[in-house]
Amino acid sequence: MKSLETISVHTAKAGERTIQPKVMPVFQTSAFSFSSLEEMEGYYEGNGTYLYSRTANPNTDALGQTVANLEGAPKGVAASSGMAAILAGILSVVQTGDHVLAAEDVYGGTFLLLKEELLRMGIHVHFADFSNASEIEQHVTDFLEIKLIISESITNPFLRLEDIEGLSRLKDQYGLTLMIDNTFATPYTIKPYALGADLVVHSATKYLGGHGDVTAGALVGRADLITIAESRITNLGMNLSPHEAWLTVRGIKTLVLRMKAQTENARAIADFLKDKARVWYPGKGAIVTFELPEHVDVYRFFKSLGWIQIVPTLAGVETTVSYPYSTSHRALSEEEKQKIGVTKQTVRLSAGIEGTQDILDQLAAAIK
Ligand SMILES: *Cc1c(COP(=O)(O)O)cnc(C)c1O
Repeated sequence: MKSLETISVHTAKAGERTIQPKVMPVFQTSAFSFSSLEEMEGYYEGNGTYLYSRTANPNTDALGQTVANLEGAPKGVAASSGMAAILAGILSVVQTGDHVLAAEDVYGGTFLLLKEELLRMGIHVHFADFSNASEIEQHVTDFLEIKLIISESITNPFLRLEDIEGLSRLKDQYGLTLMIDNTFATPYTIKPYALGADLVVHSATKYLGGHGDVTAGALVGRADLITIAESRITNLGMNLSPHEAWLTVRGIKTLVLRMKAQTENARAIADFLKDKARVWYPGKGAIVTFELPEHVDVYRFFKSLGWIQIVPTLAGVETTVSYPYSTSHRALSEEEKQKIGVTKQTVRLSAGIEGTQDILDQLAAAIK
């Protein structure tokens, strides 16, 4: 009989390699073993097995490929967060000395990544008003070092719908690469790859995961770029954990059901609010932004929302509200806030899957 020391280390591996689970299990392992040296050498010759989870893991591969399939793109890769996926996308295209052109209303985290981190790597960033096509073209023709254009399919918090086809024509004309953050829309609402984007990125923390219990990212698109992005993720340690990948894949199974219900609720909320506040709702997606009239005390409004929680994120199955003025857009100066239109009366609501009338009743009570 072996010692307790040995038994406790070499735990039983019941049924391994013979059972067929209905759903993919979590491969919660940092590395993979081989039954022979030949098999291990086969890995290096590209026979498709696994070696080390930072490089590749079945769960993270399943997430990357599932998001690629949803977006209609040939290849995808998972990353440890939306930010990691965005960085991997950027670094699959540009290097020191190159320039990037981004929409001035990109997500706050993306803005900081571009402004603070890329600059430190010697990558220059330009911001432009992407609602103005001639301003974009002006930048592209003025700065020939621009290699990559970054925008979002639906922007935050005023839900501007990006003209992805227009950007795509422009990038083709000038031989650039286009990356679209599709977090707010999801492939249920918009498919940027089919509209000409080279790379599509997600904070899977939001609608793909959908339950507010994971931080994860995914990058999909042109196979040649995704192959480079995979190396960036491996080399910079931006890989997602197998368990988080597994949870995200599980969440994706109900993506369409959730998006249907959340979009319907968002429509009803936008409709209900339109004679009570100034409302932004582009007719797509599940976020509604509104500006309460001056006579409504915003602090009291937030206190009166009952079961609608105040959460500075979005996309869960629960209806939540956030306050851009002092959270997502806090870092902006008063002037910058004014320029994009964020005021002390601006509220961003993320519609959940609850009963529509219950949400409307709760909002009505709060406004009263
Ligand atoms: C949340 C978010 C991100 C960042 O994603 P993380 O998962 O928090 O890293 C990027 N883009 C958009 C549009 C987001 O909403």
